Amino acid sequence: MLPNGAYANLLWELCDVGALKSAKLPADWSVETVLPIALEGRELTLEAHAYQGDTTEEQVLVLIHRAPNVAKDEIPVVRIHSGCVTGDIFHSLRCDCYQQLQAALKVLTTAPYGAIVYVPYHEGRGIGLFKKIQAYALQDKGLDTVEANISVGAPVDSRDYDLSARVLVDLGMSEVKLLSNNPAKEQALKAKGIRIAERVPIVVPPNKFNKRYLETKRARMAHKI
Ligand SMILES: [Zn+2]
Repeated sequence: MLPNGAYANLLWELCDVGALKSAKLPADWSVETVLPIALEGRELTLEAHAYQGDTTEEQVLVLIHRAPNVAKDEIPVVRIHSGCVTGDIFHSLRCDCYQQLQAALKVLTTAPYGAIVYVPYHEGRGIGLFKKIQAYALQDKGLDTVEANISVGAPVDSRDYDLSARVLVDLGMSEVKLLSNNPAKEQALKAKGIRIAERVPIVVPPNKFNKRYLETKRARMAHKI
């Protein structure tokens, strides 16, 4: 039995994943427990795994639902969810993160095998909480989400999926049904060696606060919403 991390490193060595081939992860990069959660009045106990990447900021939480007697070759439904303090915690209506998170949890806990990879450091499409709020302030003045990011000196989307891809491989999920509206995310994961059996969209209804934001994601970032 290889120590935690060593197995993933070995797989990366075997995969043709370009620059990642040389990336080494610490042997103690993952820990595991169980997490009981309340979802729509139901109590569910999920497998919980935390991983740490090359820096202490790069951390992810993975919650896994596995139905009893799930087939060995069952392809998991996977959501890679970017952390959003305003949306996920305070249910902000300026974005669709909370609704997407809830919809994803519902799908993956009713599927035979599902997982959510929660990525806190992807806040604000990777620009962080402060710059995200700075960009919101510019949107209050009429800029759209793309223009606002550019105005605060941030990329439109600076998320990378290196750690998420390594985590999926470590968990034996190198082929997934990806729960996402974002073709760029699908491409990014494929580039890291993850096979996407299917991309399953999550459609959530817009509200008066996020209508323009969702429209911009559709028109300027090719999101299928
Ligand atoms: Zn959000």
